[in-house]
Amino acid sequence: MPKAYCCKNCSNPLFLDVHVGQHNAVEKKFDSKQQCQIFIKDKLKWMNFDGQEGQILCPKCQAKLGRYVWHGDTCSCGNLVIPYIAFIPSKINTQEYQ
Ligand SMILES: [Zn+2]
Ligand SMILES: [Zn+2]
Repeated sequence: MPKAYCCKNCSNPLFLDVHVGQHNAVEKKFDSKQQCQIFIKDKLKWMNFDGQEGQILCPKCQAKLGRYVWHGDTCSCGNLVIPYIAFIPSKINTQEYQ
């Protein structure tokens, strides 16, 4: 069953599991057992990215959901991810999608 990823605060659907990408291990910066961020492969239509990096806000309730850095940043697991378009797992709910 496909999944939709939604804002936990307002349940606004943000993206689908087809948009989610596994990050490549470009370079391991440090070792950590922390849960990975949720990465998407590319920018989506609702995202108003302005500049090289910034916050990702929910388009409906403006909750802070994550962060993007085009030139890359480090995931909580220690891997460098380029480009870095990351959602914080605790801010996201998943639902079945019809
Ligand atoms: Zn990771
Ligand atoms: Zn929201």
